[in-house]
Amino acid sequence: MTYRSRLLLYVGMLIVLLIGMMTLSFKAARDVVVQGAEERLRHAVQRREQDVRAERQELLGYARIIADDQRLQEYLYIILELGTSRESLAPYVDRQFSSLPHDACLILSRRGEVLLGGQYTQVAEQARRHLESSTDGYFYFSSPQGVVMVVMAPVVYEGQRLATTVVTRTLDPQWLGLQENPASDYLLLFEKDGSILWSSNTRYQGMEIDTRAGVLEVQGQSFQLRQVALGKEDPALPRLWLGISESVLVNLLDSYQRWVYSFSVLGALAVLLVGWLMVRNFSKPFSQLMHITEEMVQGRLPVMHRSESKTEMDQLVNRFADVLDALRREQTRVRRAHRKLQETAITDSLTGMYNRRYLQEVAPGLFARVVRDRCYLTAILLDLDYFKAINDRHGHPGGDAVLVHFSRLLKHNSRASDYLFRIGGEEFLILNVAEDTGSSFALAGKLRELVARSPASYRGMEIPITVSIGISCCRGASGEGSLSQLMRAADKALYEAKSNGRNQVVRHLSCLEPAIAGPRRGSLALVGSSAAEVTEN
Ligand code: GH3
Ligand code: MG
Ligand code: MG
Repeated sequence: MTYRSRLLLYVGMLIVLLIGMMTLSFKAARDVVVQGAEERLRHAVQRREQDVRAERQELLGYARIIADDQRLQEYLYIILELGTSRESLAPYVDRQFSSLPHDACLILSRRGEVLLGGQYTQVAEQARRHLESSTDGYFYFSSPQGVVMVVMAPVVYEGQRLATTVVTRTLDPQWLGLQENPASDYLLLFEKDGSILWSSNTRYQGMEIDTRAGVLEVQGQSFQLRQVALGKEDPALPRLWLGISESVLVNLLDSYQRWVYSFSVLGALAVLLVGWLMVRNFSKPFSQLMHITEEMVQGRLPVMHRSESKTEMDQLVNRFADVLDALRREQTRVRRAHRKLQETAITDSLTGMYNRRYLQEVAPGLFARVVRDRCYLTAILLDLDYFKAINDRHGHPGGDAVLVHFSRLLKHNSRASDYLFRIGGEEFLILNVAEDTGSSFALAGKLRELVARSPASYRGMEIPITVSIGISCCRGASGEGSLSQLMRAADKALYEAKSNGRNQVVRHLSCLEPAIAGPRRGSLALVGSSAAEVTEN
């Protein structure tokens, strides 16, 4: 697996991790919010139950106030035991207790006769029935207006129960509206068979609720419902429910969800960006290094561009570039040393001219050229005259100075196409490939004269010198001929020059035109084995 694909895999894993973490934390936050809402509803229901209980206690207090009134007890005793008229009972109760906040007030005799509040027949009927079956001080019944809370207190006179006072309060839409502000996100309602009979907000009246799930869904609004216990379980009674609107909660969660999605996308983009930067910052230098090392394996030392940036990766690349530079410098140094070594091997150290070894090396190429181009190769062999005597007179260093002086004369006056060799102590050779031999003859004559005119100087003394020159030629056509033949012929001409008194130029027969153009045309024209034919001095 490459570094780049591994990096991409890590980036992908990071993105998945990031989105997973965001989603999980959102779900956890959602659960906390939902649970919080449920808790809130439970507490709210508990508070409503306390309120209903308190209201019932308050109503019971009123019933007791009436039942405990001394004069009322006396009235009732007179009415019930002595059989007097009950006409003054209603005005008395009205006068005494009309300030008590209740909806209806009844007084029932022990036998169930309605002594006060005859107009409340339904209440009287329900109260009678309740007194027959139960001793509880309160109950509820359903009326067209609402659920009626009925509270009773016995009227006891001198240890004898004379009657019962009955006080009611109707839990109708008005009561519901007083308990819960219709504009709030709370909703208080009475339900029967899944349908809302009355509610604190009248717009929900008549609507259906899901009593199993405890949910009211209507026109995009959603309420979580919980039953408020009235204190009496009666299946015939409408049930009281408290609801909390979930819309606020849902909107809150929706906005959180939007944030979570936005952060997830931003996070993923950030991770992608980081991944891309890493791939760019690491991958480019890596592939550059890989490429360079491959080049090095191939034996090349390519030039690397340095980076201005100060990152570790770029610094590594720069170091590598330094190493390459150092290697290149070393390579140049070795090449130069190698070239020097090669030059030394083929050069004479005293005069700087090519040596005999190089002559052997270069000769085959020159002969091949002569054959190929059908031209001439001339050898000018030069030997200083009486050099031993110079040595004897001026010492070996003096002789060396003469050799250096002489080689300088040769170098400065020879042609660009000449090959100059020192082939012995004071013996030099000039090889030249040309269309004709004339220029070589002229050069030999010029050199002889020049040497004779140019004494060497050593320790302030002039050392006159002369040189004897032998010239041989060859014309190539078929590839025959060799260096030894050419040298032998030049040697013969030189010997002739020495024998004839020195300081002269002698051409070997091979350099005569008829011989070159003779019957053996196409081979080396080294004709004549005897002495030289031409002498110049
Ligand atoms: P000829 O005119 O017949 O050529 O006589 P010559 O004295 O020049 O020739 P010979 O061969 O008798 O002497 C050549 C001398 O050159 C012998 C040797 O000591 C000397 N010699 C050879 N190489 C060097 C060198 O590198 N430096 C010096 N100073 N002398 C050298
Ligand atoms: Mg010699
Ligand atoms: Mg000599």
